[in-house]
Amino acid sequence: MSEKKCPLNRDQLEALIKKYPTPFHLYDEAAIRANARALKAAFAWNLGFKEYFAVKATPNPYLMKVLKAEGFGADCSSLPELMLAESVGLSGKEIIFTSNDTPADEYVKAAKLGAIINLDDITHIDFLEQCAGLPEMVCCRYNPGPLKGGNAIIGHPEEAKYGFTRPQLFEGYRILRDKGVKRFGLHTMVASNELDANYFIETAHILFDLVGELSAELGIQFEFVNIGGGIGIPYKPEHKAVDLKVVGEGVRKLYKEKIEKAGLGRLDVRLECGRMVTGPYGWLVSRVLHKKNTYKQYVGLDACMANLMRPALYGAYHHITVPGKETLPHDFVCDVTGSLCENNDKFAINRALPPVEIGDLVVIHDAGAHGHAMGFNYNGKLRSAELLLRENGEVVQIRRAETVQDYFATLDFAGLNKFKV
Ligand SMILES: *Cc1c(COP(=O)(O)O)cnc(C)c1O
Repeated sequence: MSEKKCPLNRDQLEALIKKYPTPFHLYDEAAIRANARALKAAFAWNLGFKEYFAVKATPNPYLMKVLKAEGFGADCSSLPELMLAESVGLSGKEIIFTSNDTPADEYVKAAKLGAIINLDDITHIDFLEQCAGLPEMVCCRYNPGPLKGGNAIIGHPEEAKYGFTRPQLFEGYRILRDKGVKRFGLHTMVASNELDANYFIETAHILFDLVGELSAELGIQFEFVNIGGGIGIPYKPEHKAVDLKVVGEGVRKLYKEKIEKAGLGRLDVRLECGRMVTGPYGWLVSRVLHKKNTYKQYVGLDACMANLMRPALYGAYHHITVPGKETLPHDFVCDVTGSLCENNDKFAINRALPPVEIGDLVVIHDAGAHGHAMGFNYNGKLRSAELLLRENGEVVQIRRAETVQDYFATLDFAGLNKFKV
């Protein structure tokens, strides 16, 4: 069971809303820090353990600064994400650049920052060499194909566009070695939102075995393996969070056997999780604008899928509570909707809630990752603000809400006036 609780109660939220109108995303710094420490503790046995926060999950530099203070690096896959990492003072090997179908200017920027470049394909060796030169250290992304079962969000590895095949991996590291690359990492990412701890232990197993085989065949030494992100979070109250201690301990046992006993030297374990780092510690706070009773009961919010797309995109479950009504009977079955002209703009379908009234606050849980970040402007909808509850109880705005001016910023209305039809 996972408890679904917002750190602010109804009165505290109402006080906050006087300054920052709904809808907004609220993040909890203390909870994010405590979770970051638990992750580090689970891997404390590994000398060079590092988590590279997957910036795409919540690309806000204020949160990245908090995570940097906890010792996390950044996993970037685009130019703006690299620039965000740079803006919080991350540099060099604190950044891993795990991109695919990569434009040259992004490799150039990653190389300038001294980031670890994680190649997605064997042809990118030449591409990188031509656009930025080969750095001293290179990582390659492995796609195990049919050797590993995938899961629902990421799909089967052999259907996934990412990474090198196994033979390409041997060939790729051989080419890199012969071109003078001296330092190596190995990466894979085969799951998303996975709640089974064993999945990550198995992934480490695959990578440890591969490190042994690649080292033996090519005479190269690996500095790290990156077992990717994808640790899931309990979106439903009946789900159980991944026990990080079990993952850390399982990987430690394998490390002893596959790396230490095999005399493979020091090997750092790396992760690049996004969802589990901020997901459970972010809430979308909204207010009920309308109630409607037609063929079904509808509760219409002032938030829409521009603020949180996951339910519309994947039919994802997000728990919903009505502050102040948590203990009332949940016998009002309704669809909770946004205002987009898309019938899938629903935060919940046939959800049992307490009796909801116009003006009630509604809190949508587990919106701290892949939430605000996925927002879009379709239908002229504007993205909401992001607020951070600091450890001292203060709330700071870490991104303002979009305005109509932001929406029109890419249009030239002066040009329009001169545009004759
Ligand atoms: C999306 C992504 C992540 C983060 O995934 P989570 O499910 O948020 O942990 C990590 N690495 C890569 C390469 C990704 O594409």
